[in-house]
Amino acid sequence: MALRKAQQPLKEFAFIDSLVRRFPTRAPGLVRGIGDDAAVVTLPAHRQLVVTTDLLAEGIHFDLRTASFEDIGYKAAIANLSDIAAMGARPEHVLVALAIPASCSTPHILRLYRGLMAACRPYRVSLIGGDTSASSHGLFLSLTVTGTVPTGSALLRSGARVGDLIYVTGTLGDSLAGLQLLSRRDHMAALRLPRKDRQFLLTRHRRPVAHCRFGQFLRTHRLASAAIDLSDGLSGDLRHLCTQSHVGAEIHADSLPFSSALLCYATASRMDPAALALRGGEDYELLWTVAPSKSRRLQRAAKQPGRRITCIGVIRPHGFGIRMRTEDGRLRPVPITSYEHFR
Ligand code: ADP
Ligand code: MG
Repeated sequence: MALRKAQQPLKEFAFIDSLVRRFPTRAPGLVRGIGDDAAVVTLPAHRQLVVTTDLLAEGIHFDLRTASFEDIGYKAAIANLSDIAAMGARPEHVLVALAIPASCSTPHILRLYRGLMAACRPYRVSLIGGDTSASSHGLFLSLTVTGTVPTGSALLRSGARVGDLIYVTGTLGDSLAGLQLLSRRDHMAALRLPRKDRQFLLTRHRRPVAHCRFGQFLRTHRLASAAIDLSDGLSGDLRHLCTQSHVGAEIHADSLPFSSALLCYATASRMDPAALALRGGEDYELLWTVAPSKSRRLQRAAKQPGRRITCIGVIRPHGFGIRMRTEDGRLRPVPITSYEHFR
């Protein structure tokens, strides 16, 4: 699509040329990348295509006062890669659609691509197309990431069975704490968190990790009956999995995994760490369920330096709902506190 020429500092064709120069693609199976009307990709035999898209709107998903262009590009890529990870798929290609306001220049947008491609590089995901438009109201960025899985093996949200154990990777709530530190700088100063804790939480917010390799590991070893990535907070994302599987869930508050930085932040700001985990978005950890008979094998196989997995509860019948066993042994319903648009 052509840009509205009048006030645009960004020259569409020169911009696309510089993308091709900066991010050349030599992906296997790629017949045609940027430069034609559409990309052409040869699918490997016996594999299915897994496709996801994610739209980020300025003022809703990011704020240019607290996020750099690199941050925005990086996180847009991670949001998509994490969806691919939760399907147990191998990520392959990315397409980028942009609506750019007059206030953003070519160097700004190239910085956004630098962040985006930095997130894609570890997985050899190549840029194969996109679209560029002007915007009269803020910056919009929509990514599409493709991946593949062996036919019939994608991890779905719908496979959880009563009695399955619920696991998560990593630690929960860090990204929300990082966001709160960023958006309330006075608050950050007032808290006097140790520098290393503050830095840890900010990095968890700005540079989350997508667990693509671990998702594929769960799939190849058949160690997940259902899976989802935690992009909107545990309370909402667990509910999505339960709805799709027609089951309920019991979460154990005292087994939720927290970083020491998050515990420090929660104490300093008088917040409940469990509430941060339930509400917190953008952790991009994986949540999955597994039959109890496989949990030993899972624990053994997942034992790797730097990898943390935690059993946080168990799948219950649908009528049980979604409840949390608190430290005093009582069961409380888990309200949806995670992020929802149009609420
Ligand atoms: P058309 O008008 O036929 O859709 P475009 O001029 O929009 O074609 O795009 C030309 C080529 O540049 C296509 O290969 C398209 O995928 C690619 N492209 C356009 N915008 C972007 C972008 N923001 N990022 C990556 N590739 C892009
Ligand atoms: Mg186009």
